[in-house]
Amino acid sequence: MEALLLPSQLIGLYVSTMARAKTSRKSDNASKLIADPAAGPAEPAANCVLCPRLAAYRAENSRMEPQWFNAPVPSFGDPQGRLLIVGLAPGLRGANRTGRPFTGDYAGDLLYQTLLEFGFARGHYRAAIDDGLELTDCMITNAVRCVPPENKPVPSEIASCRPFLAGRISAQKRLVVILALGRIAHDQILSTLALRKVSYPFAHGAMHTLRSEVTLADSFHCSRYNTNTGRLTTEMFRSVFSDIRALLDRPTQKTKI
Ligand code: SF4
Repeated sequence: MEALLLPSQLIGLYVSTMARAKTSRKSDNASKLIADPAAGPAEPAANCVLCPRLAAYRAENSRMEPQWFNAPVPSFGDPQGRLLIVGLAPGLRGANRTGRPFTGDYAGDLLYQTLLEFGFARGHYRAAIDDGLELTDCMITNAVRCVPPENKPVPSEIASCRPFLAGRISAQKRLVVILALGRIAHDQILSTLALRKVSYPFAHGAMHTLRSEVTLADSFHCSRYNTNTGRLTTEMFRSVFSDIRALLDRPTQKTKI
């Protein structure tokens, strides 16, 4: 069971997290993407309590399903990857259960099948953290690292988790493309980079050129709901990855280092 902290302790934890971020910040090109005060560590602590509602939900799930992961789900993939995929948040019976983003639910079936097809993964996806799957040139993370009730984080939770996305972006030294799966991820990325949403409207298939030669690609989220309703077809999803692959494979493509 996770211990609940007093408000004064929460503030102390936040301040110390930000202090650690400042001392670990690096002065490379990847960091130039990040607004100065925004970056935190690339991964939150396993007992992060910056969002009291989500911490309480994790504790509740731990009581009901003690064998599940029930913690902030860490990013998965290649720290040297040129592609960073940003989803919304862990699914209750997917990543929150298994401990790996998009692993164990329908969205992961489509995402990992597509990553394998376009050369961003090798091995076999078997919906388990120990299936041996490896990502190549690709990292997957979430806009919000803890499972939210009904898949709906509130704005304050999205904001609280933003420093960790900033840290993850900063840590991807060879970053060329950030793929947003859904509008919330898209908006979280823009806020993390201190860019105006009106200048980069979300649209499936859009490729926005950001500063520092980084492209923001948009896709509808590969959720079961979106695919069942026809909002996102397998072909539409493949098309986004085809565009990303073509961009990364351009002979003139430079990484930011
Ligand atoms: S969602 Fe992010 S900021 Fe909130 S408790 Fe989880 S890891 Fe911490």
